[in-house]
Amino acid sequence: MKILGIETSCDETAASVVLRDADGRGTIFSNIVRSQVEEHAAFGGVVPELAARAHVSHLDGIIARALDEAGVALGDLDAIAATAGPGLIGGVLVGLTTGKALAAAAGLKFIGVNHLEGHALTARLTDGVEFPYLMLLVSGGHSQFVLVRGVGDYERWGGTIDDALGEAFDKVAKMLDLGLPGGPRVEALARSGDPRRFRLPRPLMGEARLDFSFSGLKTAVRLAAEDAAPLTDQDAADLCASFQAAVVEIVAKRSAAALARFAAALPDATPTLVVAGGVAANRAIAAALGAVAEKAGARLVVPPIALCTDNGAMIAWAGAERLALGRSDGLDLPARPRWPLDDPGMRISHAA
Ligand code: ATP
Ligand code: MG
Ligand code: FE
Repeated sequence: MKILGIETSCDETAASVVLRDADGRGTIFSNIVRSQVEEHAAFGGVVPELAARAHVSHLDGIIARALDEAGVALGDLDAIAATAGPGLIGGVLVGLTTGKALAAAAGLKFIGVNHLEGHALTARLTDGVEFPYLMLLVSGGHSQFVLVRGVGDYERWGGTIDDALGEAFDKVAKMLDLGLPGGPRVEALARSGDPRRFRLPRPLMGEARLDFSFSGLKTAVRLAAEDAAPLTDQDAADLCASFQAAVVEIVAKRSAAALARFAAALPDATPTLVVAGGVAANRAIAAALGAVAEKAGARLVVPPIALCTDNGAMIAWAGAERLALGRSDGLDLPARPRWPLDDPGMRISHAA
């Protein structure tokens, strides 16, 4: 089956055509992403109303390019999938409404996809990973461990109690005037810094639960920056390196504990850790996770970074996985600003 996927939940306008064959293997025919970084740069963060307007301006063209590059017409598709949440509601409505309208006009099935399910299932598209597996989602809006048992079958094992990890990177970048996108700039500067120069806290590390807290760490970076002001380039680099070292230690420790829980809960499964979300681009974090997985005898899967950050292919693929199980949605499906993965409505067995 061929599916068009539409993603507009944050600041990427994206569309993609993906094929899922009868054996459950996926092929990406096209994957067009337009980032709105420039629209929001002057404001130091994503402005929801501007994001929604930019999606309105660009989505039609992005969809046309995705179809064109894939060499298909609407009539060649089996279904259209669009993100129905969670996310900035104005943007979600743009993509969802467009997807429904195209499906209605072309007489195609429609699937409203949970954006987080898109992230969760990407490793099956890229690496054919089998259920069950453990996902660490670390993005601009989320940081959580999720046991992925099957399509629609998720168990949240822990997550951030305040800031998301990508958000913490972005805020540190903002404090140090590094500009957007924050994560890559902090990582680049950290390379020339001394990770032992500043003593920063590792919040919640004394506790056994699989949760994160990054807000106190971020505040500690701000206080250290104020103490050391005016900052030289070397001071900024040392702060970035010290912050990243704290993050790496926190993520590595928690991931080791999550893998141990996976092995104990699912002794017959191949322990597998799948990383999703834009922070997966961070090489220091990826290297630390590689070491954690090796020590635990687990398989580590990090999809190509363009498929870890927001994109249309993950939405098309999640739609295809649902359609393959006989699921599709009515055109009355609402947009949802909040929509946790373990929401009972996600379960396939609760099929309408
Ligand atoms: P969500 O998917 O939760 O709605 P989002 O769309 O903002 O959020 P992504 O597009 O998956 O998230 O990822 C963007 C985030 O990843 C940003 O916060 C960015 O700073 C972070 N990021 C990107 N590259 C790096 C890097 N090299 N190191 C650390 N963080 C990074
Ligand atoms: Mg984004
Ligand atoms: Fe995302």
